[in-house]
Amino acid sequence: MISPVWHPFTQHGLNEPVPHIVRAEGALLHLADGTTLIDAISSWWVTTHGHCHPRIAAAIAQQASTLDQLIFAGYTHEPAEEVARGLIDLAPRGQGQPDLRHVFYSDSGSTAVEVALKMALGYWHNLALDGRGEARSRILVLEHSYHGDTIGTMSVGERGVYNAAWTPLLFDVDTIPFPEPGKAQACLDALEAACADRPAAFIVEPLILGAGGMLVYPPAILRDMAAICRRHDVLFIADEVMTGWGRTGTLFACEQAGVVPDIMAVAKGITGGAIPLAATLATESIFEAHRSTDRARLFYHSSSYTANAIACAAAAANLAIWREEDVLGRIATLADGIAHRLAELALHPAFANPRQLGTIAAIDLTAPDAGYLSDLAPRLRAFFLERGLLLRPLGNTIYMMPPYCLDVDQLDLMFAALHAAGEKFGVHS
Ligand SMILES: *Cc1c(COP(=O)(O)O)cnc(C)c1O
Repeated sequence: MISPVWHPFTQHGLNEPVPHIVRAEGALLHLADGTTLIDAISSWWVTTHGHCHPRIAAAIAQQASTLDQLIFAGYTHEPAEEVARGLIDLAPRGQGQPDLRHVFYSDSGSTAVEVALKMALGYWHNLALDGRGEARSRILVLEHSYHGDTIGTMSVGERGVYNAAWTPLLFDVDTIPFPEPGKAQACLDALEAACADRPAAFIVEPLILGAGGMLVYPPAILRDMAAICRRHDVLFIADEVMTGWGRTGTLFACEQAGVVPDIMAVAKGITGGAIPLAATLATESIFEAHRSTDRARLFYHSSSYTANAIACAAAAANLAIWREEDVLGRIATLADGIAHRLAELALHPAFANPRQLGTIAAIDLTAPDAGYLSDLAPRLRAFFLERGLLLRPLGNTIYMMPPYCLDVDQLDLMFAALHAAGEKFGVHS
């Protein structure tokens, strides 16, 4: 029987196999036929400590039979309060920059970014009502960015084949060139010039652009971008949806630049990857711009499952793991293991442009016809699947983003498969 399920980012017309997973543990996925796969991309960047982490699973089970769900407009519960306090505690801090003090919950990275954009415009709108500024509405974005697949988040992301059908619905933004090596000054100059036009906010993926191809840029540039925004009174929004929860080697990527954004979006690993939850953190002034005795100024955003208690309990367990266990130590060990294997792989003539940030590693395969829509990526996917690996290359960019529990044997298996892929698909220049 043909399945009625319509999968995301999947061309059903190509009839690629759809593996059926029945169980997961640590870095391993178990298939119905008894074989296993290494989840080398953390099930699309969400699984941090490993699948079915016992502490998180227990917290979910306990909460599910205590308080499952509660309207969050005007009501509250301890898991949401605890996670909000924890997030504020762990959020990036920096000299001379206001702390993040308030937490607004939603359900996914896309909604966390939508909320961030709405907060930014709400801030300027409400200041204008008080005669304390002008209503600003333009958003600055970085070239090659990805912030989600809803209409608003597509608007602030890179335009291409993946959103061509909806171009008429997307709002206009000003795009700042990506700070490629040697072109950082052009990026900063463009930002400076664009800030002079009084936009509402600048949104960035700190230190590494994920879906755009795992493109990295140095902390000093992030620091300069934040400083330019501050100088021009333009809100600085950090999308830490992918970079958060240790992926880049620190809990949040902004820490490496000493940057405290005005608004920060987190999701993916917030529950360790077990269940959907997202949060948008904001400074006191963003919150204060909405706090009033005037109902017209409240923050008009909600979703049915805002701060779902079971999801918050999972996040609370995740925060406890971060507080009580040496997660950063585990990350550093894994990052070391990746680094020397990646350096060795880069010697292979079929590979170029190796890059790594924490436990995220990427390398480009030099292959004929390697564009995003070529059949290289699906062929690579099938090749890795046969070797027991879940990898999902972005065009000719092969990247890995494993859970932190990945062991040395699994790491070796992964890199052996990458070598083999270079042999089979690469151009040996
Ligand atoms: C994945 C991602 C999003 C969207 O998150 P979803 O939970 O898939 O909606 C937003 N921003 C970045 C940087 C992401 O990597």
